[in-house]
This record gives sequence, C-alpha cells and structure tokens, in this order.
Amino acid sequence: MTIPRLPPRPELDWKPDGTPVARGHDDVYFSAHDGLEETRATFLKACGLPERWADREDFTVAELGFGTGLNFLALWQLWQIHRPGPSARLHFVSFEGALMTAEEAARALARWPDLAGLAEMLAANWPERARGIQRMGFPDGVSLTLHLDDINTALPRSDVLADAWFLDGFAPAKNAGMWAETLWPLIAARSSEGAKVGTYTVAGAVRRGLSAAGFHVVKAPGHGRKRERLEAYLKAPPVRVPDPFAMSARQISDPPRRIAILGGGIAGACLAAAARMRDAQVSLFDPAPALASGASGNRLALVMPRLDAGDSSQARALVDAYLAACRFYHGRAGVGEVTVEQRARDEAESLRFAKLLADPPLGSDRLGGTAKALIHQRALVLSPAELIADLVAGAALRLGQPVAFDPAARTVNGEAFDAVFVASGMALASLGPPAFLPLEARLGQVEWADAPNDIPQATAQGHYAISDGRTRLWGATFEASNEREPRISEAARAANAEAVRALMGEGWADLSAAQSRAGLRATMPDRMPVLGPLPDFAAAAEQFAAVRNGAAPAGTAPVREGVYLVGGLGSRGFTFAPWAAGAVMAMAFGEPSVLAADVARTVSPMRFLFRALKRGEA
Ligand code: SAM
Repeated sequence: MTIPRLPPRPELDWKPDGTPVARGHDDVYFSAHDGLEETRATFLKACGLPERWADREDFTVAELGFGTGLNFLALWQLWQIHRPGPSARLHFVSFEGALMTAEEAARALARWPDLAGLAEMLAANWPERARGIQRMGFPDGVSLTLHLDDINTALPRSDVLADAWFLDGFAPAKNAGMWAETLWPLIAARSSEGAKVGTYTVAGAVRRGLSAAGFHVVKAPGHGRKRERLEAYLKAPPVRVPDPFAMSARQISDPPRRIAILGGGIAGACLAAAARMRDAQVSLFDPAPALASGASGNRLALVMPRLDAGDSSQARALVDAYLAACRFYHGRAGVGEVTVEQRARDEAESLRFAKLLADPPLGSDRLGGTAKALIHQRALVLSPAELIADLVAGAALRLGQPVAFDPAARTVNGEAFDAVFVASGMALASLGPPAFLPLEARLGQVEWADAPNDIPQATAQGHYAISDGRTRLWGATFEASNEREPRISEAARAANAEAVRALMGEGWADLSAAQSRAGLRATMPDRMPVLGPLPDFAAAAEQFAAVRNGAAPAGTAPVREGVYLVGGLGSRGFTFAPWAAGAVMAMAFGEPSVLAADVARTVSPMRFLFRALKRGEA
C-alpha cells in the first residue's frame, strides 16, 4: 500500500471539558485533569528546566508528538520568564504524523487564558499540511522546527542535537509506532551530551529501550492521578557518525557575530535577512554598483511550486522550499498573493498533473485544478526591487567595488569575518574545479510593460505571464550561454511574444511599449541548488580517492571552516532562496537542521565531487 503524500488529519472527539481525543488511538492529547500542570511536571521539570539552560546561549528541546502545541507553549512561557540572556535562543523541534488544524489547536488551548497570547502567535503561524520540515520563527529567540511525517520515517531522516526530549506519544499500548524499539538509538544519536528525557509513561518497554540506548532511567512520582513518570539522562557522550557530505548539524562554541555575504541578489538578500534575525552584523559585498544587478533584477518575479509527481527526496525539497518561501516573504514589502494557472504543455505533462492531483503533496487550500491546468492558490508575485531593499535593511552595503575573497583566511578585501556566505551567482564557480562545482549559465530574458490598475494574475505553461496590478511581465527564455555578460536578443523577444500570445491571447502584452531584460542564471546540471559548507575540494578528492574504485565515501568531508555556499538556484531563485539561506544559516549557528538527511545530500556541495570520482572524471 502506498502512503498518501498528504499527511493525514486526526479525527477528533471532544470531551465536555474541552479535551481533544484522537479517535484513531482512543486517547487524549493531554490529561483532562490539568494538562498544563502535567506538562510542567512531566516534561519541563523532568528535563531540569529552567535550570539547565541557565548558562546557555542556545538550548534545543525535541518532542515526539506535537499535537496541540501545548508543551511547546508551556516551554516558551517558561523561557520568557527564565531566558538566560537577551540573545539566547530556544529551538523546539517537534515530530508529528497527523497535524490537526489551527482552529482545532486553538480550541484545545483556549482553556488556558495565560497562554492566550502565545497560542495566538502559534495559530497565526500554524504549520501547513505537507510532509516535510517547516521552521517557524517566534519572538523571544524561539524557533519551532516541525517534522511532519510518521515518526518512523521522520526521525531517521532528521538532523538535530537535542538537550532535552519530551516523549509524548499516545499511551504505548494504543500507539505502538510512537514507542517503537528502533527509535531509542536514534534518539540517543540525536542527543547532546547529558541530554535529559521526560515522559509520563513508565511502560517496561520504554524503560528498557532507553536503558539499552545508553540512558540512565529513573521513575519519579507522577503528576495528579498518575502514580509515576520517567526521567532519564544520557550517560555516555553520544557517538557521531562520519559525514561525507558535510551537511550535519553541529554544536558550535560561539555563534558568528561578524558575517560577510557575497552577492546582492535574492540569495544574498535572504541570507542578510536571516543573519540579521540572528542579531549578526552583516556586510554585503557585490562588485555591481546596485543590488539585484544580475538575474534577480527583473521587474517582477513569480514564486510558485515546482511539483514532481513522485515522492522523491528532490520532490520533498521542492515542497519544503516553496512553503519556506511563502512563510518568509509573507508581509514583506513588494509581496502580493496571486493564483497561478499552470497549463499542461503536452500530454505527458497532463498525465503528470493527473497523478499529482490524485495524490497531492499540498492541501486543497494551495493546490487544485484539473489534468489540463493546475491551480496554485496563494502563490506570490514579487517586486524584487522593493523586496530586496526590505531584506537587506540593517546590513552594511559594500557595492560597486571589486570583491577579493580568501576562503582559507576567511577575509573579504582584507577584512576578517566569523563567517562568509557566498551567493554570487556564476562567480561562485571560481570556488571549485568545474567537475566538482559544475555551474552552467542559462540566459533568461523577459519583457515587461506598465499596466496601471490591472488585476494581479499569473498564467504559466513553460513560459509565464504575470501581473502585480501595476506591471505586466512575460517570459522567460532559458538558454545555455557561454557569454560572461547577459545580452538582450530580438530572437528571445520574439519567442517570448509568441509564448505570451499563446498564453493570454492577442493584446494582453503591450509589445510596442515592452522593455526587455536578460540575466544569467547559475544552474546545476541536476537543477537542484547547491548549498552548505564550502568543501576543501582538493583535500576532499584526496581523502575520498577510493571512491574512484567503487568504495563508499569514508569519513567527514574537509571543509573551509565558516564558509558557506548558496547557489545554482537556476530559474527558481526567488522560490529557493529563503529555504537555502535558512538552511545554511542554521548550519553556521549550530541550530537544528531544516534539511532531511536525504534532502541534504541532494543539495550538498560534495555531490558532484562524488559523482566525478565514481565516473572517473576526476
Ligand atoms: N505534545 C502534544 C501537545 O502538547 O498537545 C500532545 C501529543 S499527543 C499525546 C500524541 C501525538 O503524537 C499526537 O499529536 C499524534 O498525532 C502523534 N503521533 C502518534 N503516532 C505518531 C506517529 N507514528 N508518528 C508521528 N506522530 C504520531
């Protein structure tokens, strides 16, 4: 039986006192007696909170079973009272297989008036219904990373180092999957040294599983009507597995304070915003005299999902990235919602659309339509100039001068930084040999014309035609190019004109008043972005030489400490950039990863090195 791509919703019953019950498991989400007090005793106190974070800049709590978010809110409230310092951060990573709706959660949480403010913020940022990883930022230095999938799929793919674990599945007798034997070693491997565990159950299998995985387990007096509960802590330092792709979350001693970003396009701008959210000082360098001088500088940009019919790592990455973009841009300058009609180009695409609609990866509030045309609701049309100016607010802009970067010394124009993020489009190719970092330039041309008082709309069929209500824009070409500078061509203009006529009919595009713009989009051969730590490619080729003879890569890839790449965004720069920027910032700051392990491999800067070695091309 294949598993539907859309995660299930729970079927809920409600007790007279307002406690939700999961019909499928015949169990409550929290104790009807006093759920909040129980949370405090069973999870917060058991994990030694708030004392254990007293001298920490960063603290990570992981939870099995997000449910209503009650545990998250109780923890956040405790953090508000006992935050160790104004720059300290609390990361909450939770796993949930059947996400309820925001309304259901709000209903369940309504009985605790003193959580109302936090519950409201959670409801306003409630996760979307899609398998994958979503990260939400909240005030007080709090983040929520939600892994939405069955725990037995999600936990093995996750990458987190937790200081505390809340084990909060339904009762083991009613919810065997959430307490499976295979989970204990995974929990231990994702724990930081001395990590603590709290749970309400004292079931023998849970005690034995935790002990066998290296935890010291004790029974403690239970809360309310429960006689006992469990506390545990990790006895030995956890063993870390080697990481040939160099993408794993790591603990860091000092978060980077002084950050350089190379590139003033959408990737650089998203990096700047992500770094500023973490209170870093940001210097943004670009040799061009203005921001968005390259491929990001079109008058309008469209953010819509690229959906694959199969449920591969790549397909999940695309969904995660799209949802991250929608969340990140929401409410910023130059951002408007639009419904996109994506028409099938041919019979094959129509079949793919039919397959997607039969087993959709996104909810019906986002994806609908027919095999002839998908409808993407709440997609975005962006005004890049306004948006990028908004994103780089607070960064020192160093534009219009040559940029000399030394990856080994981590200096830019002679100035040293704690971390450098390279997001310089095709210029990024100079950081590695072409066989290992095979960026190709694709020439994209668009046309646009003013259209005052227009209706915002978007239609796509390979090419696209979009309007934000003020401007109409259509295109784009996507041609291989050996040129260093993008050049406008009459041939591209004619091709775009023909495409827009086919899409919108005669007269939609005012060709006589149309202006053209061309940009070079840096693209990887597999059409996936490249992001992560910059490998020391020469050292890596040597270390992994045995891969040429068919051996599996052994050991962790050598990297240039503190240097990260974001590139190869191709024609999807505006969709990929927020997710990619968030992912590398999380790495640089030692935060829980937003990349599932298999997704991380599909975007790792090491992937083409391994391919080249295997094929004997290097
Ligand atoms: N901590 C939650 C709160 O604060 O409201 C309550 C959690 S409730 C007791 C258990 C949760 O585990 C439910 O939300 C349920 O959907 C989830 N769950 C049960 N089985 C699961 C599985 N196999 N994989 C992932 N989540 C699962």
